[in-house]
Amino acid sequence: MDFELNDEQKAMKDATRRFADEVLAPAAQGIDEADETNLELVGQLAELGYLGLTIPEEYDGAGLDTVTYAMCMEELSRGCASTALVVSINLSLIADAILKFGTDEQRQKYLPGLATGEAIGCFVLTEPEAGTDAGAVQTTAVRDGDDYVINGTKCFITNASFAKTFLVFASTDPEAGSKGLSCFIADGGTDGLKVDKRFDKLGIRGADVREVHLEDCRVPAANMLGEEGKGLKIALTVLDGGRIGIAAQAVGIAQAALDEAVKYSAERKQFGRTINKFQATQFKLADMALAVDSARLLYLRAACLKDKGDRFSVESAMAKLAASRAANYVANQAVQIHGGYGYMKEYTVERLFRDARITEIYEGTSEVQKMVISSALLQD
Ligand SMILES: Cc1cc2nc3c(=O)[nH]c(=O)nc-3n(C[C@H](O)[C@H](O)[C@H](O)COP(=O)(O)OP(=O)(O)OC[C@H]3O[C@@H](n4cnc5c(N)ncnc54)[C@H](O)[C@@H]3O)c2cc1C
Repeated sequence: MDFELNDEQKAMKDATRRFADEVLAPAAQGIDEADETNLELVGQLAELGYLGLTIPEEYDGAGLDTVTYAMCMEELSRGCASTALVVSINLSLIADAILKFGTDEQRQKYLPGLATGEAIGCFVLTEPEAGTDAGAVQTTAVRDGDDYVINGTKCFITNASFAKTFLVFASTDPEAGSKGLSCFIADGGTDGLKVDKRFDKLGIRGADVREVHLEDCRVPAANMLGEEGKGLKIALTVLDGGRIGIAAQAVGIAQAALDEAVKYSAERKQFGRTINKFQATQFKLADMALAVDSARLLYLRAACLKDKGDRFSVESAMAKLAASRAANYVANQAVQIHGGYGYMKEYTVERLFRDARITEIYEGTSEVQKMVISSALLQD
């Protein structure tokens, strides 16, 4: 087992760390207050190649591995978790789906736009009545000549207002339940594809999360991704990979909270000494560091397995479960170490505490990760 990163991985991690420190972190508080995606920063991420990090070079991406991607996600999220989320969805959920399940024509048509950021992706699965139970999607896609006509309402769709590549899940055979789900690539701006209400959120306030309505939205039959009826399989497959990115995001949030707590504990004085001189604080910091590092190792293991082409569903579920727990625990402790100041908006840990919460919910709640892990344990 080799824990050493290669030169390219080290260089990317260092460069991303610098970008996060110099550009993202100073902007993060303002993004949270503005409650909107900073598209200028997304543009910078695109220019620097982050939106195409794992997309093969033949499609204008950088062709890097999952380990590098996940480490970059951690560093970007350490700076600003909302902005980093754009990268994760674009690569793990959209580009990976098209790479794995797309035809040559679909790859040629869509991957370059995803890689350069000209046609950023969004993942259009969740509905008001279909969350964890993704197979309960009620949106329908009915064949009409060379097209499918899609109707339905989706909620909680990240990136929707600026995305141009929509991966839409709809039922082509409602009688068949979850086996009737199919997946389509719809271009942003298509008639009948309406991006609507922006959700007002607890955290990751810089992420653009919307309702999406499909009203007689015509998508060419050639834009079906994979086979008819295989939509749920596509969704579950890409979510396995997506969880590595969310685990890395959670570790980035946790690391930022730990860094803030270490710094503050060396500055704040009570009883005539800095609070880091109290063993109670030191032990908190030790436990926080342990949580961050163990979660990091878990996402790296899952990323390594993905790069080797091995199965990684259980490992990515474990990574996400542990990392999202770590993010919430560490951010909570970091607030505690800041005392009353940690509860105030001027202090970064207040935002990190709110940003951490979502990592236990999206791309499969913690309960879902436990289902994935336990069902593997209980297999005959
Ligand atoms: C900020 C944000 C961004 C998002 N971005 C996207 C996006 O880009 N695209 C997209 O498609 N979706 C997105 N989502 C949706 C997200 O993936 C869902 O919210 C999540 O999967 C949970 O679904 P739900 O909210 O309907 O909760 P529910 O499924 O209603 O779950 C409620 C509770 O019940 C538990 N539960 C449900 N079923 C079971 C079970 N069988 N056993 C045990 N417990 C169970 C859940 O774990 C949870 O605790 C986003 C959500 C948020 C909040």
